[in-house]
Amino acid sequence: MKHPDGDSASSTAQYDESTPLARELADITRRRQALAAEVLPLPEKTRVFTVANQKGGVGKTTTTVNLAAALARAGARVLVIDLDPQGNASTALGVEHRSDIVSVYDVIINDEPMSAVVQKSPEFDALYCVPATIHLAGAEIELVSLVAREQRLRSALEAFFEQSEEPFHYVFIDCPPSLGLLTINAFVAASEVLIPIQCEYYALEGLSQLLSNIQLIERHLNPRLAVSTILMTMYDSRTNLANQVVQDVREHFPDQVLNTVIPRSVRISEAPSYGQSVISYDSSSPGSLSYLEAAAEMARRGAPN
Ligand code: ADP
Ligand code: MG
Repeated sequence: MKHPDGDSASSTAQYDESTPLARELADITRRRQALAAEVLPLPEKTRVFTVANQKGGVGKTTTTVNLAAALARAGARVLVIDLDPQGNASTALGVEHRSDIVSVYDVIINDEPMSAVVQKSPEFDALYCVPATIHLAGAEIELVSLVAREQRLRSALEAFFEQSEEPFHYVFIDCPPSLGLLTINAFVAASEVLIPIQCEYYALEGLSQLLSNIQLIERHLNPRLAVSTILMTMYDSRTNLANQVVQDVREHFPDQVLNTVIPRSVRISEAPSYGQSVISYDSSSPGSLSYLEAAAEMARRGAPN
């Protein structure tokens, strides 16, 4: 027997899907369900990512914080190392970074153990952050005269891993917008590089310089380093330019670019002012779903061989 409301229900559904807002809601529901249905694999060995691009404002910090939060939400143990004197990643993870606290500066310059400076983020259970304070601004120059100046973060991280009770699954190092000694320390400490690229006209400018620097590091300081992941950020589907940029980058780096593209989203940009990632601030917003999908893709792909 036919349900009495059957006809009207199906016609309502059809009507709904034909309006842009209802289509968007239906799309969000589908994406949430797909994410909820998947259990992400955890890596056997800690994956250490350096999030780098010498351009400012391309989404390094936003990407660091939200991928870290997404993976922590999915059950991974995640550490974020804030290596930018601005301390934006620390802010977004709700972690203290006043100038009088011990921070990554003390780890790199004063041989403070990382365990003494790491803080738990209130965001998720297994999400931790090594904060940066404004002192880090001087570290670039102070590092020059120190021994093993390129290896300091790596040594500190290795010592920290050795004495951690439980292993971390992911580490993300948020870099400042330069290719100085702090960024070099990050490249030496990592096994993978994640490059966020903004979907705009000058996106590829500077990329070859970044890649040749990474190659130099690989040759001389860290042979296991690989650019494993490229994430397109701040995508605006209404512009042809954004589509063109995504297409160009995919052509150049077919194996590295994630299928997921992060849209421009007000929710993403306002989350840090609440000391939150967008994953906890508005978990079912399109921006949050995109970061959750990007994290899932990275987990599924696994580390490069
Ligand atoms: P970087 O660390 O490379 O300097 P940020 O992550 O700080 O870049 O991003 C630069 C600015 O752009 C910030 O104000 C941030 O909130 C904003 N932003 C980043 N990603 C998005 C996005 N997908 N949609 C809207 N705003 C974004
Ligand atoms: Mg930043």
